[in-house]
Amino acid sequence: MKLDTRAMRHLAAEDWRVLTAVEMGSKNHEIVPTPLIEKLARLRGGVSGVHRSISALAKVGLIARVKEAKYDGYRLTYGGLDYLALHTHAGRKDVYSVGNRIGVGKESDIMVVADHTGKQCVLKIHRLGRISFRTVKSNRDYLKNRNAQSWMYLSRLAAMKEYAFMNALHEEGFPVPTPLAQSRHTIVMSLVDAFPLRQISEAPEPASLYADLISLILRLASHGLIHGDYNEFNILVKEIKSTAEDGTESIILEPVIIDFPQMVSMEHVNAEMYFDRDVNCIKRFFLRRFHFTPSQPGPFFKDAKKTVGKGGLKRLDATVEASGFTKKMLKDLEAAIKDKKTVEEGQEGANEDDDDDYDEDSDEDSEEEEGEEEEDDNEDEGEGRQEGLLSGGLSEGL
Ligand code: ADP
Ligand code: MG
Repeated sequence: MKLDTRAMRHLAAEDWRVLTAVEMGSKNHEIVPTPLIEKLARLRGGVSGVHRSISALAKVGLIARVKEAKYDGYRLTYGGLDYLALHTHAGRKDVYSVGNRIGVGKESDIMVVADHTGKQCVLKIHRLGRISFRTVKSNRDYLKNRNAQSWMYLSRLAAMKEYAFMNALHEEGFPVPTPLAQSRHTIVMSLVDAFPLRQISEAPEPASLYADLISLILRLASHGLIHGDYNEFNILVKEIKSTAEDGTESIILEPVIIDFPQMVSMEHVNAEMYFDRDVNCIKRFFLRRFHFTPSQPGPFFKDAKKTVGKGGLKRLDATVEASGFTKKMLKDLEAAIKDKKTVEEGQEGANEDDDDDYDEDSDEDSEEEEGEEEEDDNEDEGEGRQEGLLSGGLSEGL
Protein backbone atom coordinates (compact mmCIF):
# COMPACT_ATOMS: atom_id res chain seq x y z
CA MET A 1 0.00 0.00 0.00
CA LYS A 2 1.64 3.13 -1.21
CA LEU A 3 0.33 6.60 -0.86
CA ASP A 4 -0.81 8.06 -4.16
CA THR A 5 -2.44 11.42 -3.72
CA ARG A 6 -3.25 12.11 -7.33
CA ALA A 7 -6.93 11.35 -7.06
CA MET A 8 -7.35 13.73 -4.15
CA ARG A 9 -7.86 16.83 -6.19
CA HIS A 10 -10.58 15.20 -8.23
CA LEU A 11 -12.82 14.34 -5.32
CA ALA A 12 -15.86 16.55 -4.94
CA ALA A 13 -17.31 17.64 -1.61
CA GLU A 14 -20.00 14.93 -1.93
CA ASP A 15 -17.35 12.27 -2.45
CA TRP A 16 -15.68 13.29 0.79
CA ARG A 17 -19.01 13.09 2.59
CA VAL A 18 -19.58 9.59 1.28
CA LEU A 19 -16.03 8.52 2.17
CA THR A 20 -16.57 9.89 5.67
CA ALA A 21 -19.88 8.01 5.82
CA VAL A 22 -18.12 4.74 5.01
CA GLU A 23 -15.61 5.48 7.74
CA MET A 24 -18.39 6.20 10.24
CA GLY A 25 -20.24 3.05 9.24
CA SER A 26 -17.06 1.02 9.72
CA LYS A 27 -17.19 1.64 13.44
CA ASN A 28 -20.01 -0.87 13.81
CA HIS A 29 -19.91 -2.75 10.53
CA GLU A 30 -17.12 -4.75 9.01
CA ILE A 31 -18.87 -4.26 5.68
CA VAL A 32 -20.92 -1.10 5.54
CA PRO A 33 -24.27 -1.77 3.81
CA THR A 34 -25.04 0.63 0.98
CA PRO A 35 -28.31 1.90 2.57
CA LEU A 36 -26.35 2.84 5.69
CA ILE A 37 -23.85 4.79 3.60
CA GLU A 38 -26.78 6.61 2.01
CA LYS A 39 -28.22 7.42 5.41
CA LEU A 40 -24.96 8.61 6.92
CA ALA A 41 -23.95 10.70 3.93
CA ARG A 42 -27.32 12.45 3.61
CA LEU A 43 -26.46 14.12 0.37
CA ARG A 44 -28.69 16.79 -1.03
CA GLY A 45 -28.70 15.11 -4.39
CA GLY A 46 -30.25 12.02 -2.78
CA VAL A 47 -29.49 8.39 -3.37
CA SER A 48 -28.29 8.75 -6.95
CA GLY A 49 -25.64 11.25 -5.85
CA VAL A 50 -24.45 8.79 -3.23
CA HIS A 51 -24.21 6.04 -5.81
CA ARG A 52 -22.22 8.25 -8.12
CA SER A 53 -19.78 9.02 -5.31
CA ILE A 54 -19.56 5.39 -4.30
CA SER A 55 -18.47 4.35 -7.76
CA ALA A 56 -16.02 7.25 -8.00
CA LEU A 57 -14.45 6.22 -4.69
CA ALA A 58 -14.37 2.53 -5.57
CA LYS A 59 -12.78 3.34 -8.89
CA VAL A 60 -9.76 4.91 -7.26
CA GLY A 61 -9.62 2.21 -4.59
CA LEU A 62 -10.59 4.29 -1.55
CA ILE A 63 -13.43 1.94 -0.74
CA ALA A 64 -13.81 -1.64 -1.85
CA ARG A 65 -16.98 -3.50 -2.68
CA VAL A 66 -17.56 -6.65 -0.70
CA LYS A 67 -20.15 -9.16 -1.72
CA GLU A 68 -21.45 -11.18 1.16
CA ALA A 69 -24.04 -13.89 1.45
CA LYS A 70 -26.32 -11.63 3.44
CA TYR A 71 -25.75 -8.26 1.91
CA ASP A 72 -23.48 -6.24 -0.32
CA GLY A 73 -21.58 -3.32 0.99
CA TYR A 74 -18.29 -1.51 1.09
CA ARG A 75 -15.32 -1.29 3.31
CA LEU A 76 -12.82 1.49 3.69
CA THR A 77 -9.37 0.62 2.33
CA TYR A 78 -6.06 1.85 3.73
CA GLY A 79 -6.03 4.22 0.75
CA GLY A 80 -9.36 5.66 1.86
CA LEU A 81 -8.12 6.07 5.39
CA ASP A 82 -4.98 7.81 4.07
CA TYR A 83 -7.12 10.24 2.12
CA LEU A 84 -9.34 11.02 5.08
CA ALA A 85 -6.30 11.69 7.25
CA LEU A 86 -4.67 13.89 4.62
CA HIS A 87 -7.94 15.74 4.07
CA THR A 88 -8.06 16.53 7.78
CA HIS A 89 -4.41 17.62 7.84
CA ALA A 90 -4.99 19.79 4.78
CA GLY A 91 -8.11 21.35 6.32
CA ARG A 92 -6.17 22.27 9.44
CA LYS A 93 -3.33 23.63 7.32
CA ASP A 94 -0.85 21.13 8.73
CA VAL A 95 -0.15 19.60 5.33
CA TYR A 96 -0.35 21.34 2.01
CA SER A 97 1.55 18.95 -0.24
CA VAL A 98 3.06 15.51 -0.15
CA GLY A 99 6.54 14.71 -1.41
CA ASN A 100 8.75 11.69 -1.45
CA ARG A 101 8.75 8.69 0.77
CA ILE A 102 11.91 8.83 2.85
CA GLY A 103 11.47 5.80 4.99
CA VAL A 104 9.72 2.50 4.87
CA GLY A 105 9.45 0.77 8.16
CA LYS A 106 8.02 -2.69 8.48
CA GLU A 107 4.74 -1.13 9.33
CA SER A 108 4.88 2.50 8.43
CA ASP A 109 5.49 4.87 5.56
CA ILE A 110 7.45 8.01 6.22
CA MET A 111 6.81 10.85 3.80
CA VAL A 112 8.19 14.33 3.50
CA VAL A 113 5.32 16.80 3.38
CA ALA A 114 5.13 20.57 3.38
CA ASP A 115 2.70 22.84 5.13
CA HIS A 116 1.12 25.85 3.40
CA THR A 117 4.14 28.02 4.22
CA GLY A 118 6.41 25.54 2.45
CA LYS A 119 8.02 24.27 5.63
CA GLN A 120 9.02 20.64 5.29
CA CYS A 121 7.74 18.17 7.84
CA VAL A 122 7.37 14.43 8.18
CA LEU A 123 4.17 12.46 7.83
CA LYS A 124 4.28 9.04 9.46
CA ILE A 125 1.56 6.67 8.32
CA HIS A 126 1.11 3.66 10.54
CA ARG A 127 0.34 0.45 8.73
CA LEU A 128 0.09 -2.34 11.21
CA GLY A 129 -0.67 -5.66 9.62
CA ARG A 130 1.30 -4.97 6.50
CA ILE A 131 4.31 -7.13 7.21
CA SER A 132 4.79 -10.35 5.40
CA PHE A 133 3.60 -13.13 7.62
CA ARG A 134 4.92 -15.96 5.53
CA THR A 135 8.00 -16.50 7.62
CA VAL A 136 6.71 -16.65 11.13
CA LYS A 137 3.99 -19.04 12.05
CA SER A 138 2.92 -17.41 15.30
CA ASN A 139 2.08 -14.29 13.38
CA ARG A 140 -0.11 -16.10 10.96
CA ASP A 141 -2.04 -17.60 13.83
CA TYR A 142 -2.46 -14.25 15.39
CA LEU A 143 -3.48 -12.64 12.13
CA LYS A 144 -6.12 -15.21 11.43
CA ASN A 145 -8.63 -13.44 13.59
CA ARG A 146 -7.86 -10.02 12.24
CA ASN A 147 -9.48 -8.32 9.32
CA ALA A 148 -8.41 -5.19 7.50
CA GLN A 149 -10.63 -3.04 9.69
CA SER A 150 -9.10 -4.16 12.91
CA TRP A 151 -5.61 -3.54 11.56
CA MET A 152 -6.68 -0.02 10.70
CA TYR A 153 -8.01 0.37 14.20
CA LEU A 154 -4.68 -0.81 15.64
CA SER A 155 -2.82 1.57 13.34
CA ARG A 156 -4.91 4.43 14.69
CA LEU A 157 -4.05 3.36 18.22
CA ALA A 158 -0.37 3.23 17.33
CA ALA A 159 -0.50 6.76 15.94
CA MET A 160 -2.41 8.07 18.95
CA LYS A 161 -0.01 6.45 21.37
CA GLU A 162 3.04 7.64 19.49
CA TYR A 163 1.71 11.19 19.33
CA ALA A 164 0.86 11.24 23.04
CA PHE A 165 4.39 10.17 23.95
CA MET A 166 6.05 12.48 21.47
CA ASN A 167 4.17 15.36 23.03
CA ALA A 168 5.02 14.36 26.58
CA LEU A 169 8.69 13.81 25.76
CA HIS A 170 8.92 17.02 23.80
CA GLU A 171 7.41 19.02 26.65
CA GLU A 172 9.89 17.47 29.03
CA GLY A 173 12.76 18.59 26.79
CA PHE A 174 13.80 15.22 25.38
CA PRO A 175 15.51 15.26 21.97
CA VAL A 176 12.57 14.07 19.87
CA PRO A 177 10.89 15.51 16.76
CA THR A 178 8.37 18.25 17.42
CA PRO A 179 4.88 16.74 17.27
CA LEU A 180 2.68 18.86 15.01
CA ALA A 181 -0.57 17.03 14.32
CA GLN A 182 -2.30 13.68 14.44
CA SER A 183 -5.23 12.30 12.50
CA ARG A 184 -6.39 8.70 12.41
CA HIS A 185 -3.37 6.47 11.69
CA THR A 186 -1.01 9.36 10.90
CA ILE A 187 1.24 11.84 12.65
CA VAL A 188 2.84 15.02 11.40
CA MET A 189 6.13 15.96 13.06
CA SER A 190 9.15 18.09 12.40
CA LEU A 191 11.71 16.81 9.91
CA VAL A 192 14.94 15.96 11.67
CA ASP A 193 17.92 16.74 9.51
CA ALA A 194 19.91 13.68 10.46
CA PHE A 195 20.70 10.12 9.50
CA PRO A 196 19.84 7.05 11.51
CA LEU A 197 22.72 5.78 13.65
CA ARG A 198 22.72 2.74 11.38
CA GLN A 199 24.22 4.91 8.62
CA ILE A 200 26.96 6.44 10.71
CA SER A 201 30.11 4.58 9.79
CA GLU A 202 32.56 6.50 11.91
CA ALA A 203 32.26 8.28 15.21
CA PRO A 204 35.14 10.48 16.33
CA GLU A 205 34.30 9.72 19.93
CA PRO A 206 32.12 6.66 20.23
CA ALA A 207 32.44 6.77 24.01
CA SER A 208 30.75 10.12 24.17
CA LEU A 209 27.86 9.17 21.88
CA TYR A 210 27.48 5.92 23.79
CA ALA A 211 27.32 7.80 27.07
CA ASP A 212 24.68 10.16 25.66
CA LEU A 213 22.55 7.26 24.47
CA ILE A 214 22.78 5.43 27.77
CA SER A 215 21.98 8.56 29.71
CA LEU A 216 18.88 8.99 27.55
CA ILE A 217 17.76 5.49 28.54
CA LEU A 218 18.29 6.44 32.17
CA ARG A 219 16.56 9.75 31.80
CA LEU A 220 13.54 8.05 30.23
CA ALA A 221 13.55 5.55 33.09
CA SER A 222 13.58 8.32 35.67
CA HIS A 223 10.33 9.52 34.08
CA GLY A 224 8.92 6.00 34.28
CA LEU A 225 9.49 5.01 30.65
CA ILE A 226 11.31 2.47 28.51
CA HIS A 227 11.59 3.13 24.78
CA GLY A 228 11.23 -0.54 23.92
CA ASP A 229 12.80 -0.39 20.46
CA TYR A 230 15.96 1.55 21.12
CA ASN A 231 18.03 0.56 18.13
CA GLU A 232 20.18 2.05 15.38
CA PHE A 233 17.13 2.76 13.19
CA ASN A 234 15.25 4.69 15.83
CA ILE A 235 18.10 6.94 16.87
CA LEU A 236 18.84 9.72 14.44
CA VAL A 237 22.22 11.36 14.79
CA LYS A 238 22.69 15.03 14.04
CA GLU A 239 26.17 16.04 12.98
CA ILE A 240 26.89 19.47 14.36
CA LYS A 241 30.06 21.23 13.26
CA SER A 242 31.77 23.22 15.94
CA THR A 243 34.82 25.41 15.68
CA ALA A 244 37.06 25.87 18.69
CA GLU A 245 38.77 29.18 19.52
CA ASP A 246 41.98 28.02 17.92
CA GLY A 247 40.10 27.38 14.70
CA THR A 248 40.11 23.59 14.86
CA GLU A 249 36.90 22.08 13.61
CA SER A 250 35.20 19.14 15.16
CA ILE A 251 31.90 17.37 14.72
CA ILE A 252 29.59 16.78 17.61
CA LEU A 253 27.11 13.96 17.29
CA GLU A 254 23.73 14.64 18.82
CA PRO A 255 21.08 11.91 19.05
CA VAL A 256 17.38 12.40 18.42
CA ILE A 257 15.03 9.57 19.39
CA ILE A 258 12.03 8.55 17.28
CA ASP A 259 9.42 5.77 17.03
CA PHE A 260 7.32 5.50 20.18
CA PRO A 261 4.30 3.24 19.68
CA GLN A 262 5.85 0.43 21.69
CA MET A 263 6.98 2.47 24.71
CA VAL A 264 6.30 0.79 28.03
CA SER A 265 6.16 1.82 31.64
CA MET A 266 8.92 0.96 34.12
CA GLU A 267 6.05 -0.78 35.98
CA HIS A 268 5.31 -3.16 33.10
CA VAL A 269 5.52 -6.85 34.05
CA ASN A 270 8.33 -7.32 31.55
CA ALA A 271 9.97 -3.95 32.19
CA GLU A 272 13.33 -5.44 33.10
CA MET A 273 13.46 -7.46 29.89
CA TYR A 274 12.60 -4.39 27.79
CA PHE A 275 15.09 -2.22 29.65
CA ASP A 276 17.91 -4.74 29.25
CA ARG A 277 17.07 -5.26 25.63
CA ASP A 278 17.33 -1.53 24.92
CA VAL A 279 20.68 -1.31 26.71
CA ASN A 280 22.06 -4.41 25.00
CA CYS A 281 20.97 -3.23 21.61
CA ILE A 282 23.17 -0.15 21.96
CA LYS A 283 26.06 -2.14 23.37
CA ARG A 284 25.91 -4.66 20.59
CA PHE A 285 25.78 -1.98 17.92
CA PHE A 286 28.71 -0.04 19.36
CA LEU A 287 30.78 -3.16 19.55
CA ARG A 288 29.98 -4.22 16.01
CA ARG A 289 30.19 -0.85 14.34
CA PHE A 290 32.80 1.06 16.34
CA HIS A 291 34.57 -1.81 18.16
CA PHE A 292 33.73 0.01 21.31
CA THR A 293 33.30 -1.70 24.66
CA PRO A 294 32.19 0.38 27.64
CA SER A 295 34.46 0.29 30.67
CA GLN A 296 31.57 -0.11 33.07
CA PRO A 297 28.92 -2.82 33.26
CA GLY A 298 25.24 -1.94 33.24
CA PRO A 299 23.26 0.20 33.59
CA PHE A 300 20.97 -2.11 35.51
CA PHE A 301 17.21 -2.07 35.74
CA LYS A 302 17.12 -2.27 39.53
CA ASP A 303 19.19 0.91 39.86
CA ALA A 304 17.14 2.71 37.22
CA LYS A 305 13.94 1.66 38.99
CA LYS A 306 15.03 3.54 42.11
CA THR A 307 15.20 6.79 40.17
CA VAL A 308 11.62 6.72 38.84
CA GLY A 309 9.88 9.96 39.77
CA LYS A 310 12.73 10.91 42.10
CA GLY A 311 12.92 14.51 43.21
CA GLY A 312 9.44 15.17 41.86
CA LEU A 313 10.30 14.20 38.27
CA LYS A 314 7.16 14.04 36.17
CA ARG A 315 5.97 10.49 35.54
CA LEU A 316 5.31 10.15 31.83
CA ASP A 317 4.21 6.53 31.84
CA ALA A 318 0.66 7.56 32.72
CA THR A 319 0.55 9.74 29.60
CA VAL A 320 -1.24 7.24 27.46
CA GLU A 321 -3.95 6.42 29.98
CA ALA A 322 -4.38 10.12 30.51
CA SER A 323 -5.01 10.58 26.81
CA GLY A 324 -8.02 8.28 26.84
CA PHE A 325 -6.58 4.85 26.15
CA THR A 326 -8.37 1.97 27.80
CA LYS A 327 -6.57 -1.10 29.12
CA LYS A 328 -8.05 -3.13 26.29
CA MET A 329 -6.72 -0.73 23.66
CA LEU A 330 -3.25 -0.98 25.16
CA LYS A 331 -3.41 -4.75 25.31
CA ASP A 332 -4.51 -5.04 21.69
CA LEU A 333 -1.80 -2.72 20.54
CA GLU A 334 0.87 -4.41 22.59
CA ALA A 335 -0.03 -7.79 21.14
CA ALA A 336 0.12 -6.43 17.60
CA ILE A 337 3.44 -4.72 18.15
CA LYS A 338 4.96 -7.71 19.89
CA ASP A 339 4.14 -9.73 16.82
CA LYS A 340 5.79 -7.16 14.64
CA LYS A 341 8.97 -7.44 16.65
CA THR A 342 9.02 -11.22 16.41
CA VAL A 343 8.95 -10.91 12.67
CA GLU A 344 11.70 -8.31 12.62
CA GLU A 345 13.95 -10.43 14.78
CA GLY A 346 13.19 -13.53 12.76
CA GLN A 347 14.12 -11.78 9.55
CA GLU A 348 17.19 -10.13 10.92
CA GLY A 349 18.44 -13.44 12.21
CA ALA A 350 18.08 -14.89 8.74
CA ASN A 351 20.42 -12.38 7.17
CA GLU A 352 22.58 -11.23 10.03
CA ASP A 353 25.45 -10.02 7.91
CA ASP A 354 23.33 -8.23 5.41
CA ASP A 355 23.75 -4.60 6.22
CA ASP A 356 21.58 -3.37 3.39
CA ASP A 357 18.13 -1.98 3.76
CA TYR A 358 16.09 -5.03 4.55
CA ASP A 359 12.73 -3.36 4.51
CA GLU A 360 11.94 -3.18 0.83
CA ASP A 361 11.47 -6.85 0.13
CA SER A 362 8.88 -7.64 2.67
CA ASP A 363 7.11 -4.44 1.80
CA GLU A 364 6.76 -5.50 -1.79
CA ASP A 365 5.58 -8.91 -0.70
CA SER A 366 2.77 -7.59 1.33
CA GLU A 367 1.75 -5.15 -1.32
CA GLU A 368 1.20 -8.03 -3.67
CA GLU A 369 -0.96 -9.72 -1.11
CA GLU A 370 -3.00 -6.67 -0.49
CA GLY A 371 -3.33 -6.01 -4.19
CA GLU A 372 -4.84 -9.42 -4.77
CA GLU A 373 -7.43 -8.93 -2.16
CA GLU A 374 -8.55 -5.59 -3.38
CA GLU A 375 -8.65 -6.52 -7.01
CA ASP A 376 -11.40 -9.00 -6.26
CA ASP A 377 -13.30 -6.53 -4.24
CA ASN A 378 -13.24 -3.80 -6.75
CA GLU A 379 -16.12 -3.08 -8.97
CA ASP A 380 -14.25 -1.19 -11.63
CA GLU A 381 -10.81 -1.25 -13.05
CA GLY A 382 -9.29 1.57 -11.06
CA GLU A 383 -7.29 3.77 -13.34
CA GLY A 384 -4.91 5.20 -10.82
CA ARG A 385 -4.65 2.23 -8.60
CA GLN A 386 -1.70 0.45 -10.13
CA GLU A 387 0.37 3.59 -10.32
CA GLY A 388 3.32 3.94 -8.06
CA LEU A 389 4.15 6.47 -5.46
CA LEU A 390 3.67 10.12 -6.13
CA SER A 391 7.05 11.27 -7.25
CA GLY A 392 8.73 14.57 -7.69
CA GLY A 393 9.07 17.45 -5.33
CA LEU A 394 6.64 19.20 -3.14
CA SER A 395 5.23 21.50 -5.76
CA GLU A 396 1.72 20.15 -6.02
CA GLY A 397 -0.86 20.90 -3.40
CA LEU A 398 -3.46 18.41 -2.30
P1 ADP B 1 8.86 2.54 12.06
O1 ADP B 1 7.87 2.54 13.18
O2 ADP B 1 8.28 1.96 10.83
O3 ADP B 1 10.17 1.94 12.43
P2 ADP B 1 10.10 5.15 12.32
O4 ADP B 1 9.34 6.19 13.06
O5 ADP B 1 11.18 4.48 13.06
O6 ADP B 1 9.09 4.10 11.70
O7 ADP B 1 10.69 5.82 11.00
C1 ADP B 1 11.35 5.05 10.00
C2 ADP B 1 12.51 5.82 9.40
O8 ADP B 1 12.07 7.06 8.83
C3 ADP B 1 13.56 6.23 10.42
O9 ADP B 1 14.53 5.23 10.59
C4 ADP B 1 14.14 7.49 9.82
O10 ADP B 1 15.11 7.19 8.87
C5 ADP B 1 12.97 8.12 9.11
N1 ADP B 1 12.29 9.14 9.95
C6 ADP B 1 11.22 8.95 10.75
N2 ADP B 1 10.84 10.09 11.36
C7 ADP B 1 11.69 11.05 10.94
C8 ADP B 1 11.82 12.47 11.21
N3 ADP B 1 10.99 13.10 12.03
N4 ADP B 1 12.82 13.13 10.58
C9 ADP B 1 13.66 12.49 9.74
N5 ADP B 1 13.59 11.17 9.46
C10 ADP B 1 12.62 10.44 10.04
MG1 MG C 1 11.61 2.56 13.62
